[in-house]
Amino acid sequence: MDGLLQEYCLDLPVDAAATLQAWKKSYATDGQFTLYKASGCEKCENTGYKGRLGLHELLIGSTTVKKLIQKRATVEEIRGAAFMEGLRTLKQDGIDKILQGHTDIQQIRAVCY
Ligand SMILES: [Zn+2]
Repeated sequence: MDGLLQEYCLDLPVDAAATLQAWKKSYATDGQFTLYKASGCEKCENTGYKGRLGLHELLIGSTTVKKLIQKRATVEEIRGAAFMEGLRTLKQDGIDKILQGHTDIQQIRAVCY
């Protein structure tokens, strides 16, 4: 969980303690998290994975973001403003899907670093 939390918050304006509290509220049972790993069977050709799952990162063209783009702000400025408005990165969306039990960190790392 520490590793996931670290990856979730790395280089982002995200508060780790607040994130952990939110995770506990959404994903934990009696304070315990359940993480899954692929085992495999004949239905998934022994991979442990079946089907596809989308990871999403959506930058909303809010008034603030539009103004920043108009004044040719740096990527960091636009990113910072977007985070204040609730943007989550691809990796953060992936980690949420790990905590929801849909996939594991190996699959997330395979598509975003
Ligand atoms: Zn299977």
